[in-house]
Amino acid sequence: MIIMNTDATEEQINRVVEEIKKYGLRAEISRGAFRTIIGLIGDERKADIERLGGLPGVKETRMIETPYKLISREYNKASGPGEECAVIKVGDVEIGGDEPIYISGPCAVESREQVFRIAEGVKMAGAHILRGGVFKPRSSAHSWQGLGAESGDLAIEALTWLREAGDRYEMPVVTEVRGESQVDLIAEYVDILQIGSRNMYNQDLLVKAAQKGKPILYKRHFGAGAEEFLSFAEYIASEGNKNIILCERGIVPVGKGKSFTRYTLDLGVVPAIQKETYLPIIVDPSHAAGRRDLIFSMSCAGIAAGACGLMIEAHYNPSEALVDASQLITPEELKEIITVCQQIHKATRARANART
Ligand code: PEP
Ligand code: MN
Repeated sequence: MIIMNTDATEEQINRVVEEIKKYGLRAEISRGAFRTIIGLIGDERKADIERLGGLPGVKETRMIETPYKLISREYNKASGPGEECAVIKVGDVEIGGDEPIYISGPCAVESREQVFRIAEGVKMAGAHILRGGVFKPRSSAHSWQGLGAESGDLAIEALTWLREAGDRYEMPVVTEVRGESQVDLIAEYVDILQIGSRNMYNQDLLVKAAQKGKPILYKRHFGAGAEEFLSFAEYIASEGNKNIILCERGIVPVGKGKSFTRYTLDLGVVPAIQKETYLPIIVDPSHAAGRRDLIFSMSCAGIAAGACGLMIEAHYNPSEALVDASQLITPEELKEIITVCQQIHKATRARANART
């Protein structure tokens, strides 16, 4: 929809109409008492909307159609997934099913012994999926970048340890693909490819990862709006891969002074996004809070908000971890969280069912 300025001339209106026609689209003009609005009829992808928005006499353009048709409930009601939450099956684990799933493990894979010991601990705590970073996105170029950045075969070794620990403790595994060049290698070892917050907007990476056909754990950028998040998830779906697990991990805090958390966990987005898309959404309280003393309450809040699961970083000795030590919890603490979250899930699911 093209909204003209109140003082737009006939010539300017005609010019917009002509430009719309050049894209092979139809223009429908509505003349109001104060201004004219021109509707674009047809496949809007054929038009350069930004260019139309810059024509003389144009005030603004507005999209009426959703930019995330493939993953929206609205457009998929007839074909099935629109009504329910899509269930993504990874091995025996169902994400988006009746029960929340818990993804846990170290922030970064550091050694074979470390990943096996943590895998055993989180499995006993009730986790379903094992995580562990090999190629770490870091805020400083001077920080350790994970085993993936070390010379020799350490990336392959770290991926192998993660795979073997997952197999040993019967958990599918997930790790982050930080760049396109890592996709082929990582896809050989893991069940789920994680696209990190910083890469939410990386179209080429989204496409390349999607083409592997494996489920994608897709994290919201800390500065992205919810609609933008879904619009970019559409790049994955456009490759024919609708096995997308959305993840809310906190957005940039606002205001002056200390915010006391690393990011602001946007919990309202969980039930709101579930109304828009049939894709499951999970919550990552670890990266949102950035501190271990808040993980329990933020986990409970995530499940109460209706998340399909949680991703929580854990370590048997948090203070010795090379990355994100301040937010890691022990497997024992994870167990307590899962126990309480299961009770919350029972209570809130009953409430949600009663409402519908
Ligand atoms: C992670 O999950 O390892 C991670 C780095 O998270 P984020 O991309 O949300 O910062
Ligand atoms: Mn981390």
